[in-house]
Amino acid sequence: MRARPPTFVRFRDVQEELGKSGAAIFRDLDGVESLIIHFPYTVNYIHSYAEDSPFFLGLAEGRLRGSKCRKVKCGFVYATPRSHCMVCGTATEWIDLPLKGRLHSWTTCHFGSEAFLKETPYNLALVEFPGVGSLLLARLKDCVESDLYVGMPVEARFDPNPKYSITDVWFVPSP
Ligand SMILES: [Zn+2]
Repeated sequence: MRARPPTFVRFRDVQEELGKSGAAIFRDLDGVESLIIHFPYTVNYIHSYAEDSPFFLGLAEGRLRGSKCRKVKCGFVYATPRSHCMVCGTATEWIDLPLKGRLHSWTTCHFGSEAFLKETPYNLALVEFPGVGSLLLARLKDCVESDLYVGMPVEARFDPNPKYSITDVWFVPSP
């Protein structure tokens, strides 16, 4: 009979064991034990960005593209682009956002999806831009949580080998 997988109280140790033997037990703070197995699978996901396409094409060109309400009296600017204005319902137009902004808020993620496992824990930031009415959610790199403060200047960086994914952009502290 196969031996019982080893038990850990830190999930990082579970992840390490999964990489070695493919099975581990995680014991939580209440003493509940969960058997966790390594079960790789892949999916070929064909996905259209449709009206959001200019945003992802822009990332590959080192541009952050937002949208602006076409109604002159409204003119709301979105950092996360929308085809129509949430305030007045009018169609929007594409604009280029500044590449520098400020840290509005952040969270430090100790669990991550597959794309972020290698850099976990990582900081996820809400970035505000001058003259823009909504916030952009992106990773914040080249810093640790204790460096961060609300209002900290940050600037965008782009993947030189774009994947046409939101991971093509992240922010770093701005000097
Ligand atoms: Zn509007």
